[in-house]
Amino acid sequence: MQTLIDPFARPITYLRVSVTDRCDFRCTYCMSEHMQFLPKKDLLTLEELDRLCSTFIDLGVRKLRITGGEPLVRRNIMAFFRAMSQHLGSGALSELTLTTNGSQLARFAGELADCGVRRINVSLDTLDPNRFAAITRWGRLDQVLDGIHAATEAGLRVKINTVALKGVNEDELFTLVDWCGDQGHDLTFIEVMPMGEMGEEMRLDQYWPLKDLRTRLAERFALTDLAESTGGPARYVRLEETGQKIGFITPLTHNFCESCNRVRVTCTGELYMCLGQEDMADLRAPLRAGPDDALLEQAIRAAISRKPKGHDFDYSRQQVRGQMSRNMSHTGG
Ligand code: SAM
Ligand code: SF4
Repeated sequence: MQTLIDPFARPITYLRVSVTDRCDFRCTYCMSEHMQFLPKKDLLTLEELDRLCSTFIDLGVRKLRITGGEPLVRRNIMAFFRAMSQHLGSGALSELTLTTNGSQLARFAGELADCGVRRINVSLDTLDPNRFAAITRWGRLDQVLDGIHAATEAGLRVKINTVALKGVNEDELFTLVDWCGDQGHDLTFIEVMPMGEMGEEMRLDQYWPLKDLRTRLAERFALTDLAESTGGPARYVRLEETGQKIGFITPLTHNFCESCNRVRVTCTGELYMCLGQEDMADLRAPLRAGPDDALLEQAIRAAISRKPKGHDFDYSRQQVRGQMSRNMSHTGG
């Protein structure tokens, strides 16, 4: 079968799927406290998610990342992981992974490892319990740390994702680096993105450019740029003193689009060809039109033929341009 190649000759081999918009946290940069969630009937069922992901895998997707919302709060989500693990078994899929807030890992880490998950991303912005409660509103740090511990025990490699928030976790830069070093976790910093409908002012207030963060890191460590690219927005450096690898996801200040190999599907089956553009294709209708996957495949191919060259985020001149109205919890970060 012809695999998916976009108009700029980029093969589409990486799919991120949001399996729910719901979450047990309410991180200030991601959701409002009284978030209105979608009606359940609008969400893809686990069977629909299975069909959808399996079709993408048939079309050449090799890497699948499950996200949300919080993927591990979706009821019976392990059934979906088990279904996807069969594609690992057959060799069609080379990696199955997830991005999680870690709150449910103590429960699920073992099963995830059994399903062939080898690496996970856990979002953690602070190691201070009070600050953690303030950022996540509903989260408890010790639960997440227990979850991370369970993941490590189950043999999963953990990468910590930390959103760099000016005036919030700036003073923990080295604490987080040291902790990850001690625990053997990779660490990636994410620049806060203009997602959702949060006040523009607050967003610009929290904006801590990663080039500043990098300059601070360079005051203590010798940094070596690493050439490796995942096709995504992350760039990596090695801290020569400790050998740690630190990532930077700077979608707003660097153009990473030329090597983009990924697309995203929301929990309602909307396929976004670019995180920073509004264009999308509805895959739920072809999924629900009947059991035949031909319509679905057609809709996917038509959408990929419209994948744009890049996005338009721009924080310059203190304006949030190209601001997207979708929340990260809907699109999946
Ligand atoms: N609930 C899971 C978690 O927190 O890892 C998965 C979904 S969450 C939307 C995925 C990632 O997006 C997290 O690392 C989170 O920190 C990040 N994120 C959410 N809102 C963001 C924003 N406005 N800017 C940058 N990153 C954001
Ligand atoms: Fe939930 Fe993740 Fe969004 Fe935080 S960042 S509210 S944990 S979806």
